[in-house]
Amino acid sequence: MHRTVGALCEMASPHDINGQLIIATIQGNLMGARSAIAEGAQVNAVMDGSGLSPMLAVAIGGWVDIGRLLLATGRVDVNQQARDGVTPLYSAAKNAKIDVCRLLLREGKADVNKPAHDGCTPLYHAAMLGHVEVCRLLLTEGRADTNLANNVGATPLWIASHGGFTEVCRLLLAKGKADVNKAAANVGGTPLSIAALNGHIAVCQLLLTEGRVDANAADESGISPLHRATLSGHKSIIRLLLKHGARVTDAQCKDAEYAPFTNDPATAEYLARKRCGSCNMLAQTRACAQCRVVSYCSRECQKRHWKTHKPNCKIPTVD
Ligand SMILES: [Zn+2]
Ligand SMILES: [Zn+2]
Repeated sequence: MHRTVGALCEMASPHDINGQLIIATIQGNLMGARSAIAEGAQVNAVMDGSGLSPMLAVAIGGWVDIGRLLLATGRVDVNQQARDGVTPLYSAAKNAKIDVCRLLLREGKADVNKPAHDGCTPLYHAAMLGHVEVCRLLLTEGRADTNLANNVGATPLWIASHGGFTEVCRLLLAKGKADVNKAAANVGGTPLSIAALNGHIAVCQLLLTEGRVDANAADESGISPLHRATLSGHKSIIRLLLKHGARVTDAQCKDAEYAPFTNDPATAEYLARKRCGSCNMLAQTRACAQCRVVSYCSRECQKRHWKTHKPNCKIPTVD
């Protein structure tokens, strides 16, 4: 569906009336579309080469008036799928043609959740591209199901977190009651961990506060948000996760590639200071009140380590 309007018009035969309807629709020519319909053009006709139908052309071009004309015939299949399974609503959502989305939902009673062949719904695609207002419409007007995952297990919240679209994530949480912990089974990672990996701190903040995500929720490989954040070396996100109670050991992670490490010296040094002097866990540590040299993840760890630490625990002197 990435051909030019001109190329598409050449493919449609102007000698047949269905072709004329398609051409008029692609061009946004209301009068032309009206006369083609009056002459008997079929409103669900599909163009041979492109698989384009009149309503799909409406969705791509954003031609609300032609969309209304087609609906008024009472014969349009609003959920007609193109070869890739894309419906007119899907295409309008993808192309951010919000007025066409509204028309298809309100007057066409389009199936808001109908996925394309890859399992992506209109909401998923709008979330992937950060179309906030389209997402809002699909959620409020269409009551779209927020938690429908595509063929690789990714949900709209997952893909919006991946792309760093904070306002879309906020909408999905508030209006759609999105499942905040749903990991993309075949790609890996929860919404929080994928936002952490990609360095989207505002999304991480949102998921941790408004989404009440458990900072320690790991995916099926034991990879936690903190593991992913350390891999990509986003120090501010590491700090945020630790503040929200994230705690990991290197051994927790089944995938060695994700064990806490970083190539950034400053982050590596920061991480070293955040390791418990007793259990070596990476956590929000507190320094020994006396020497301030060793830090611990908990009172228990500090007590356990005291015998070892006592001989070295000296109040620092100023030379
Ligand atoms: Zn500890
Ligand atoms: Zn000490």
